[in-house]
Amino acid sequence: MKEISNFIKTIMEKDLKDGKVNEIITRFPPEPNAYLHIGHARAIITNFELAKCFNGKTNLRFDDTNPVKEDQEFVDAIVEDLKWLGYTPNNVFYGSDYFEETYEKAVLLIKKGLAFVCDLSQEEMTKYRGTLTEPGTPSPYRNRSIEENLQLFAEMRAGKYKDGEKVLRAKIDMASPNINMRDPVLYRIIHTHHHRQGDKWCIFPMYDFAHPLQDAFEGITHSLCSIEYDNHRPLYDWVVDNTECEHIPHQYEFGRLNITNTIMSKRYLKQLVDTKSVIGYDDPRMPTLVGLKRRGFTPEAIKNFILETGLSRVNSTTNSEMLEHFLREDLKLKTVRPHAILDPLKVVVTNYPEGQIEYLPCINNSENEELGTRQIAFSKYLYIEREDFLEEKPNKKWKRLSKDLEVRLMHAYFVKCNEVIKDENGNIIEIHVTYDPNTKSGSGFNERKPNGNIHFVEATTAKKATFNVFEPLILDETEETKELSFMERLNKDSWKVFEGYVESFLQDTKPFDKYQFVRNGYYQTDKDSTPEHLIFNKTCGLKSSF
Ligand code: ATP
Ligand code: MG
Repeated sequence: MKEISNFIKTIMEKDLKDGKVNEIITRFPPEPNAYLHIGHARAIITNFELAKCFNGKTNLRFDDTNPVKEDQEFVDAIVEDLKWLGYTPNNVFYGSDYFEETYEKAVLLIKKGLAFVCDLSQEEMTKYRGTLTEPGTPSPYRNRSIEENLQLFAEMRAGKYKDGEKVLRAKIDMASPNINMRDPVLYRIIHTHHHRQGDKWCIFPMYDFAHPLQDAFEGITHSLCSIEYDNHRPLYDWVVDNTECEHIPHQYEFGRLNITNTIMSKRYLKQLVDTKSVIGYDDPRMPTLVGLKRRGFTPEAIKNFILETGLSRVNSTTNSEMLEHFLREDLKLKTVRPHAILDPLKVVVTNYPEGQIEYLPCINNSENEELGTRQIAFSKYLYIEREDFLEEKPNKKWKRLSKDLEVRLMHAYFVKCNEVIKDENGNIIEIHVTYDPNTKSGSGFNERKPNGNIHFVEATTAKKATFNVFEPLILDETEETKELSFMERLNKDSWKVFEGYVESFLQDTKPFDKYQFVRNGYYQTDKDSTPEHLIFNKTCGLKSSF
């Protein structure tokens, strides 16, 4: 794996050298309201790898301060995702576990005359806030006495007020050019059950207040977040500067990762699941980590992709081909290369003895001998891919089978097609070929050149299998479709199913086993596959379609 290198690492090196910090402590702070996606992988890998570089630490912190959308299901899924990526956090913390300390810091701000309880409604507050070009107007409640504020805030906590009736706001600067600094809300009232705290709290801190405090409590040195928080940094600094925290963390922003033909926002992923446009968060077409795992992606490929594509302060859109490139690089030497037939055409070898099966030796991966050898069955009855046969040779470039032509069946013999059997509608149902025993693979036969090399499986021993083949879930934006919402750009043909055959040894395949099916691409055994019903998911093609 490539070592991480980016502008944040440079900052960390300098901070250590200057003695600004003694060690590097980072955190990954997901909100447990959805499954993680490949964009989160950028944040995870960046935080963990940077800390690792300096023998530092990384915490997993569930940012569960908004009780409305959070759920234990997502907490568990996030823990699993990190494990799958190969990271073990030094600590697992929950933002909500700091509610008491966070409350005390709010009280401290009130006592310092830096926070006040405000009765304006949401709409009124928006009106008072001003615009990018006009300063805001101070709230009429801004000059409440410290005593009154302390009492009102305690009453908010005690449940005396309804949702939205009061908020706690910081007293900063209603004329600040940065709207985030115009007396931002620190606490709001939400009477609801919290997935972890139960009914203990009915006031909840806002992200902009809770997050810097949590970073400070944990001694985080470098708090990394995506670039949309850039203009929240002054508020982050204001909070840690005014709450008398022992550790002063600093926030650094990086650009978000986007990938072509996919949507990365949690809200949209949820919509896909809720509308049953996909079979779940782990649908192999989803950009979620569980989806990528089910599709056959490896943590190594994801890490290399993230590290090689680098990090900057601007959002970037990377072609999905890039991710597949790193996947192929990872799988190429690790996978056995069996024969699988997705769309079978029956072949009868008319001059081969009935009832006989022979086993031909075959190297499992021609680029990696360590993967050993196996035997491939051959008999009078075979399957080849339907697309490998055309009755008439269409042109000179056709390097597959046609009537009166001879091809090599990989690891076996040359066969020549003599007869094409059709049903009453003219559809080809099987073909008859003859084989030449002198052409056995490995025999050194070189008197004739075959018209191509195709793969096959022996029909009587082959195992039936279902193959799921995927295309992008979202169609590319074109001139005609650019006005459409992503739900209207859903690719209706993004999941194709083939019923075919694989070599018999795949009977014992286990969920998540990975293969390179000769000429067909990389596949992974699905999590629902059983010996009675084999299911393989196409991970990616053998070559870039670029
Ligand atoms: P939302 O804003 O919908 O809650 P989020 O994507 O910010 O979603 P979080 O759970 O808050 O989700 O994300 C945890 C961390 O992952 C944050 O630091 C966030 O900046 C980072 N992150 C999320 N999406 C991306 C992305 N596409 N690229 C890089 N980092 C991301
Ligand atoms: Mg977020």
